[in-house]
Amino acid sequence: MIGRVSVTTVVIKGVNGYGVRVSDPAATVQDYLDVVNEAIERGRLFRGRAERADCLGCDLCCQERIPLTSIDVLRLYSPLVPEPLTAFIRKHAHISVDGGAVDITLRRDRQGRCLFLRPGEGTCRIYDLRPLVCQTFICCPQTKRARRLREQIVNVGEDELVRQWLMENQRLNTTPHIDETSGRHRVRLDDWPLTPFSGKKAYDEVLLRSVCSPAVWGDIIA
Ligand code: SF4
Ligand code: SF4
Repeated sequence: MIGRVSVTTVVIKGVNGYGVRVSDPAATVQDYLDVVNEAIERGRLFRGRAERADCLGCDLCCQERIPLTSIDVLRLYSPLVPEPLTAFIRKHAHISVDGGAVDITLRRDRQGRCLFLRPGEGTCRIYDLRPLVCQTFICCPQTKRARRLREQIVNVGEDELVRQWLMENQRLNTTPHIDETSGRHRVRLDDWPLTPFSGKKAYDEVLLRSVCSPAVWGDIIA
């Protein structure tokens, strides 16, 4: 049976990369995750940074910026000790602010490695709950269409996390904790409206169509 989202192997610059198409307007972010995960696990895609067909033993992409979505945090948050969202984010994430822009990413250690990476083993301590960015990254080329779709999902999901973080600070009457700032900044809840992730607790509740700009959606729907 053909699913609502499909990933195809596409030869780009002489190596196996991938492209994404959506065939059903009811497709969800979970449909997208399922097919991208499957394509990565099948092992036919090029690994530009490793010298083998899989990722075992390589942890290079666990040393890079990992932006978080509201659903990523919810998935991690619920199995762990109950605490305010702001406390959870402060412990597990890094918050940087530049003017009015906020970036919430997974916290890394002094060597730049993700705090969930098992040192020496190169494996993930939260593999089944790893964020969307981790699930969908592979160091092979991808079509412009696939890249833009992934960027839009992550950006909308991160915007929702910022909105919830600001709301929680407002509810608790606390000053938002910021780890890094480029200087003057102005972050106000009023600047973070509802998003297609608002009120959603799982990726199968978020329609792909709702996170795409009209241009990206028009390009990705078959
Ligand atoms: S959450 Fe897991 S997969 Fe993602 S960067 Fe951290 S260790 Fe790597
Ligand atoms: S996708 Fe990440 S873990 Fe896999 S080979 Fe590339 S850099 Fe290494």
